[in-house]
Amino acid sequence: MKPYEDPELFENTSIAFSYRTDAELRQARWLFKLIENPSIVTFGKKILPLADKLHIPYHWIVKKTIFRQFCGGETMQESLPTIERLYQFGVKSILDYSVEGKDSEDDFEHTCLKIIEIIRFSKDKPAIPFAVFKMTGIGRFALLEKVSKQCPLTANELKEWERVQSRVNSICAEAALCNLPVMIDAEESWIQPAIDTLAEEMMWKYNTDKPVVYTTLQMYRHDRFEYLKTLLLRARELNRKIGVKIVRGAYMEKERERARQLGYTDPIQPDKASSDRDYDYALRLVVDNLHQFGLVAGTHNEESCRVLMRAMADYNVHNDDPRVYFSQLYGMSDHLSFNLAALRYNVVKYVPFGPVHDVLPYLIRRAEENTSVAGQTGRELSLINKELKRRNLIE
Ligand SMILES: Cc1cc2nc3c(=O)[nH]c(=O)nc-3n(C[C@H](O)[C@H](O)[C@H](O)COP(=O)(O)OP(=O)(O)OC[C@H]3O[C@@H](n4cnc5c(N)ncnc54)[C@H](O)[C@@H]3O)c2cc1C
Repeated sequence: MKPYEDPELFENTSIAFSYRTDAELRQARWLFKLIENPSIVTFGKKILPLADKLHIPYHWIVKKTIFRQFCGGETMQESLPTIERLYQFGVKSILDYSVEGKDSEDDFEHTCLKIIEIIRFSKDKPAIPFAVFKMTGIGRFALLEKVSKQCPLTANELKEWERVQSRVNSICAEAALCNLPVMIDAEESWIQPAIDTLAEEMMWKYNTDKPVVYTTLQMYRHDRFEYLKTLLLRARELNRKIGVKIVRGAYMEKERERARQLGYTDPIQPDKASSDRDYDYALRLVVDNLHQFGLVAGTHNEESCRVLMRAMADYNVHNDDPRVYFSQLYGMSDHLSFNLAALRYNVVKYVPFGPVHDVLPYLIRRAEENTSVAGQTGRELSLINKELKRRNLIE
């Protein structure tokens, strides 16, 4: 039986949690049980910003609990032990500077310099094969929206846009210089045209003999499979490589709500099955044309991982081919990451870092998607319980 046909493939919890001590596993169980309750998460979402305003010290408790589960540390240096630990088990990392909600030109400049610092820090470290950034970290959302709509810009906005372009170029130039590929995250559809334009410009500039710049495609959008085919044609014409991270997409409710309110066609697929179908089509198309691509499959979906494994086998791509990576978030879906790594597939985890206060929005999102309502917790908890039982730590 091929590994991807094995129904038990991702059930091996001894591999999945090999890097976790008994105490850490117990704590993870406690945490997932806690955030399973949506009322607790809603309460935390309200109380933490309030504690912030009232200067009540909450930093230490967050750091010892949810931060520890989902983040590497407050700085790159502090995240290194986590990164090295994952790497001992064949799982690599991407340092994800997860500071959000900063919106001034100074903040954008600071974030741009931080990303460049991350690229320099990561270069020559085999445990950190990529860097990543979000366009809204280095440019104003409303500006990206205006550019996306092709609205005329004022003289000031034109200068502001030039600064965004220059920041993107500095990051990608540094990535090329350091030989460290950089991924550009995908965001809301109404700012994505500006992001796509910049990402394409950078790919065609820097991806000459190998993918340095990676764009992201959200397959919950019904137009993205066509867009992938267009990118492929364009790359062939220009004799360039495409770097692509394929995800399903993180903003579904917001997208649907906006489309409904403003009365335009919903950019999201009609149902989950359609997103799944296009996700799998995209993986197969990329693997079928791998000479033209670098691929990162960002997913916590077991079936999609199997689809990619199967596609690689069908097209005779080695498990550890450097052009293909599976990717999950730190603190989630270790059953995928570690079991894939044990089979010598390339696996890389986003390891978020940043001051506790600044990564709170990221942590709240992780907690929200792990409530019993959103559904992921059941899977995480049952795997943790299985491993604790195997280690004779619970009945
Ligand atoms: C390493 C990594 C990087 C990521 N980078 C980005 C990024 O740059 N931009 C971004 O937007 N997201 C990003 N994500 C998040 C990703 O898009 C998904 O939200 C998340 O991974 C859940 O999808 P899944 O494939 O893991 O699993 P699944 O649980 O199988 O899929 C859930 C997803 O399916 C889609 N979906 C659910 N219900 C429906 C429905 N009724 N109709 C249509 N579609 C539906 C939604 O996209 C939902 O998030 C990233 C995720 C990972 C792991």
